[in-house]
Amino acid sequence: MTLDFKAPKDCLKDKVILITGAGSGIGRTAAITYAKYGATVILLGRTTEKLEQVYDEIEALGAPQPAIIPMNLLHLSEEQALQISEKIEQEFGRLDGLVNNASILGTLTSIEQHSYETWEQVMQVNVNSTFLLTKHLLPVLRQAPKSSIIFTSSGVGNQGRAYWGVYSVSKFATEGLAQVLADELEGTNTRVNIVNPGATRTAMRAKAFPGENPNDLKTSDALMPLYVYLMSDASEAEHNQRFNG
Ligand code: NDP
Repeated sequence: MTLDFKAPKDCLKDKVILITGAGSGIGRTAAITYAKYGATVILLGRTTEKLEQVYDEIEALGAPQPAIIPMNLLHLSEEQALQISEKIEQEFGRLDGLVNNASILGTLTSIEQHSYETWEQVMQVNVNSTFLLTKHLLPVLRQAPKSSIIFTSSGVGNQGRAYWGVYSVSKFATEGLAQVLADELEGTNTRVNIVNPGATRTAMRAKAFPGENPNDLKTSDALMPLYVYLMSDASEAEHNQRFNG
C-alpha cells in the first residue's frame, strides 16, 4: 500500500530530517530523495568524503542546503550525542525526522565461532549508538509540530536465522527499542515505526551475499515511496508499525 505512495512535490518542505549512514546505500538515497521533496537534511556518517559528495549532489539539485555531521558511531559518547542535539536546537530549533539507518553486518558465523570483539562493535554501532542518538534527539523531535522516527530492521530482526550472529541479535534489539519507545510516545507528536528494507542492492547486501547478482535486486530508489511516506505528514496516523520494503 505505502510503496505506491505518490508523494506530492513539496511534501517534506520545511522539514528538518537527520539520516544516519547518509554517505552510501539506502541512507544516501533517502537523504537525496528527502532533499528533492524539500527537506533540509542533516547527513551523519563516518566517511566525510562520502557525506561531502552527497552534500554536493543535493546542492546541485537546488534543494535546501544540507548539514554534515561526520561521526563514527562506533565511538559515539553520550556527551557527543548531547552536543549533536544541542547543535540542531541552536541551528534549526527542532527536528522533524530521524532515520536510524547506519548499521554494520559484522561476520556471518555460528554463535560458537563468533568473535566477542565483532559482537561488541556491531552492538555498539547498531544498538548502543542508536539508543544514545535517539535518547538525546527526543527533546528536539518534541519541538516539531509532528515528528517521525524510523528504526531500520531486517528480515532477521524478528526471526533468528543460523549464522546471522550479532547482526540478527542487534536487529531484534533495534525492534525492541523501537517498540518500547513507541509505547512511551503513544499520543504524543512523535511517531515511531520500523522498516525492514528487504533485499536491496547495496554494499552491505553484497557483503552478506557475495555470490548474488546485484542486478537481480531492487535498488534503494524502489524503497523511497515508503521512506518519503513515513517522513511526510501523510503518515501521521502510523505509529508502532513494522513496514516491509
Ligand atoms: P550500507 O553498508 O550500504 O550502508 C551503511 C551506511 O552506514 C554507510 O553509509 C556507512 O558509512 C554507515 N555506517 C556504518 N558504520 C558506521 C559507523 N560506525 N558510523 C557511522 N556510520 C556508519 O548498508 P545498507 O544501505 O544496505 O543498509 C542500510 C540499513 O538497512 C542498515 O540498517 C541495514 O541493516 C538495513 N538493511 C539493509 C538490507 C539490504 O539488503 N541492503 C536488508 C535489510 C536491512 P560508510 O559508507 O562510510 O561505511
